[in-house]
Amino acid sequence: MNRQREDTNLSLKMRVGLCPTCGEYTQFNFLGEQHWPPRVVEATGMGPVVHLWLCGSCQTTLTETYMDSQG
Ligand SMILES: [Zn+2]
Repeated sequence: MNRQREDTNLSLKMRVGLCPTCGEYTQFNFLGEQHWPPRVVEATGMGPVVHLWLCGSCQTTLTETYMDSQG
């Protein structure tokens, strides 16, 4: 019951969205997870784990928290 599907390769993970930095509707590449210390989680109200995405247009790193707020 704990077998993992092989079709979720993180190195190929992508999503499309609007970049707030360059204003382009472009492709984002998954960079990895960032783990916040408990003090930061309390101060910001963010979750303890944030997914990081890299804009394919301007190479800016964005957090999943921000992108989800864009709908
Ligand atoms: Zn961008």
